[in-house]
Amino acid sequence: MNTSYITCSECGTVNLNAEYCSNCGALLDVVAKRKLKREQETTKKAKLKASLKKEPSKIETFLKNGTEHSNVLIRLLFQGGYYVWLFFALIFGGIISLIIAAAAG
Ligand SMILES: [Zn+2]
Repeated sequence: MNTSYITCSECGTVNLNAEYCSNCGALLDVVAKRKLKREQETTKKAKLKASLKKEPSKIETFLKNGTEHSNVLIRLLFQGGYYVWLFFALIFGGIISLIIAAAAG
């Protein structure tokens, strides 16, 4: 069983595993909800960052595999595409991190 100490936002009494304050009867859920929301936002941001890291690597490996093609022309095509992709990934990564920073602030 998880034991959680919730401090009452009304009177400051620390309650153990209680929905309502033992001292003044105020709803302690507000604090729990706020904490939960904060945790969800943190995991959402972490997931977003993880997906951003995963996405480019997929395309990167695809383009990298192409650069090892037996046909020279296809190899050159993929090499060009790889550098174009790196360029755009850099710009998009910068824009996305700016958006995340703006949303967090
Ligand atoms: Zn209280």
